[in-house]
Amino acid sequence: MTAATILNADLHCHSLVSDGTLAPEVLAARAKVNGVELWALTDHDEIAGQQRARDAALALGLPWLSGVEVSVSFAGTTVHIVGLGFDVDDPGFVAGLAATRGGREQRARDMAAGLARVGIEGAYEGALCYVSNPELISRTHFARFLVETGHCYDTHEVFRKFLIEGKPGFVAHRWASLSDAVRWITAAGGAAVIAHPGRYRFTPTEEYALFTEFIAHGGRAVEVVTGSHTPAEYAKYADMALEFDLLASRGSDFHDPEESRTDLGALPWLPGKLAPVWEAIEARVQRA
Ligand code: AMP
Ligand code: MN
Ligand code: MN
Ligand code: MN
Repeated sequence: MTAATILNADLHCHSLVSDGTLAPEVLAARAKVNGVELWALTDHDEIAGQQRARDAALALGLPWLSGVEVSVSFAGTTVHIVGLGFDVDDPGFVAGLAATRGGREQRARDMAAGLARVGIEGAYEGALCYVSNPELISRTHFARFLVETGHCYDTHEVFRKFLIEGKPGFVAHRWASLSDAVRWITAAGGAAVIAHPGRYRFTPTEEYALFTEFIAHGGRAVEVVTGSHTPAEYAKYADMALEFDLLASRGSDFHDPEESRTDLGALPWLPGKLAPVWEAIEARVQRA
C-alpha cells in the first residue's frame, strides 16, 4: 500500500453548467462536507463553470484541479475523455470544446423528432426546461422530462427504453476525435484520462485499440474507481492500468442527489499498487 493512493480525491462530477442539477458552489460545499480532499468539476464539453468551482473550492480550503469531460467518437461508440489540470484559458482547447458542443442543438431536435414518432410530443421544449446552459442540452435533460411527464419511473428506465442505440430517441452523433481530445488537453498543460472504461460495450480488441491509441496520442491515465464501475471492474481496470503503464484516477461521476448512485467523496480508495494521476499533476493543483 502506498500512501499516495490514500487521498479522498473526487475528480469527476457535473454541475448545472452541463447535465448535473447543482451549482458549482453547491458541489464544492458538498464535496467539502463529504470529506473530499482534492476536487475537480468535469462538466461535459464545457468549462464555463470552472472559475466558479475554483473560487468556491479555494474559499472552502478545498484543493482544486481544473476539469472537463470531452465527448469523443471512437469505433462507432461515444467515449468520454476527462481532462484534468489544464489551463482554462488555452485558446485551442476553448475552441475545440466550443466545436464539440456545437452539434448538440440539432441533435436534440432530431431526438425530439424520433420521440414524436412514438407519440411523445414536445420533448425538445420539455427537455429545454431542465437546461441551464443552452449550448449543453443532453440526453439527461430529455430523461428528466420523460420522468416528469410519467413516461418512465426513473432516468435509467428512460435511457433503456428511449435514449440508447436502437431506441426511438437515439441519434447517432459525431463528437470530437480521440486524437483531438487528447491533444487539446495535453497542449493546454493537462492530463487526459479515459473515463469509466467499463461503460463501453467494446470487444476486447476494440478496448485494446482504445487504450493503445489513447496512449499514442499522449493520454496519461484511466479511471479505475468510479461511480460507474462495479468492484470487479475496479480490479479489471487496475490490472489494465498496470499493463498499459497508465496513471489511475478516481471520481464519483455525481450528477444529482436523487439520480446518482454514488455521492461525492463516497468511493473506495484506489488500489494501493496504482500510481494516482494527482501525484503526476501535483503542480497543477490550486490551493487557497
Ligand atoms: P449526452 O452527452 O447527451 O449523450 O448524454 C450523456 C449523459 O447521459 C451521461 O453523461 C450520463 O449523465 C447520462 N447517461 C448515459 N447513460 C445513462 C443511463 N443508462 N442511465 C442514466 N443516465 C445515463
Ligand atoms: Mn452526464
Ligand atoms: Mn461520462
Ligand atoms: Mn461524467
